[in-house]
Amino acid sequence: MKPYLALLFFALLAGCATGPRIDTSHPSVNYDSRVQFVVMHYTSASQERSLQLLTHGQVSAHYLIGDDTQATIFKLVDEQYRAWHAGESEWDGRTWLNSSSLGIEIVNPGYQDTASGRVWYPYTEAQVQSLLYLLRDIASRYRIDKRNFIGHSDIAPLRKQDPGPLFPWKRLAAEGFGVWPAEPAVAQQKARFDISPPSITWYQEQLSRLGYSIPQSGTLDTATQRVIGAFQMHYRPQRYDGVPDAQTAALIQVLLNMR
Ligand SMILES: [Zn+2]
Repeated sequence: MKPYLALLFFALLAGCATGPRIDTSHPSVNYDSRVQFVVMHYTSASQERSLQLLTHGQVSAHYLIGDDTQATIFKLVDEQYRAWHAGESEWDGRTWLNSSSLGIEIVNPGYQDTASGRVWYPYTEAQVQSLLYLLRDIASRYRIDKRNFIGHSDIAPLRKQDPGPLFPWKRLAAEGFGVWPAEPAVAQQKARFDISPPSITWYQEQLSRLGYSIPQSGTLDTATQRVIGAFQMHYRPQRYDGVPDAQTAALIQVLLNMR
């Protein structure tokens, strides 16, 4: 190769290796985190089975909280990636929440149907403590609206019941993870709704404003009942039959007033 050709060759090679000019001197201030929601679940399986399913099955979550005495926190998927925990889901008009959420699974058998009705398994105190530790850690790293700490049943009310009526929503809300309506305000609103019960259209419109995906049919259809039931399971776990009543309306109204 002649000297000048060799020079040209190396110049081209250097050009290729460098690639286009990249200028990093204009960083934008307009962005936010991929992580907008934290979705909580129970696994309805043992710890061993849960670990197997969440690492080698068709599903996953960023974290799994065990039911061992220390309630070990297993980190299964890096937070920068999507875990597959939410499935078809919707909250506040956002769909398919795997893309925008972190998923936390908790080892808990769920429920058992017995002759005297459905029996739910409680979470252990150690599990609640581990969950709170994890939520504090997550909240220190992302700016997540407190209303966006939600359950699988909130975002997929027609398919899912986890994390169930024994999930400690009130305790979590006291620490800023989720919201909880103040009882005196609920009592005040209930007195009002006792006198003039709202229409089904009202329930559908207001639950939609709270984030739930609910038909706007004006009738108490099966889907509407299921969504009302999911709301009740979260905010009034004593009775979640999906039947609209003054207390349910009062809970909705107080939550809307808190926004
Ligand atoms: Zn779930």
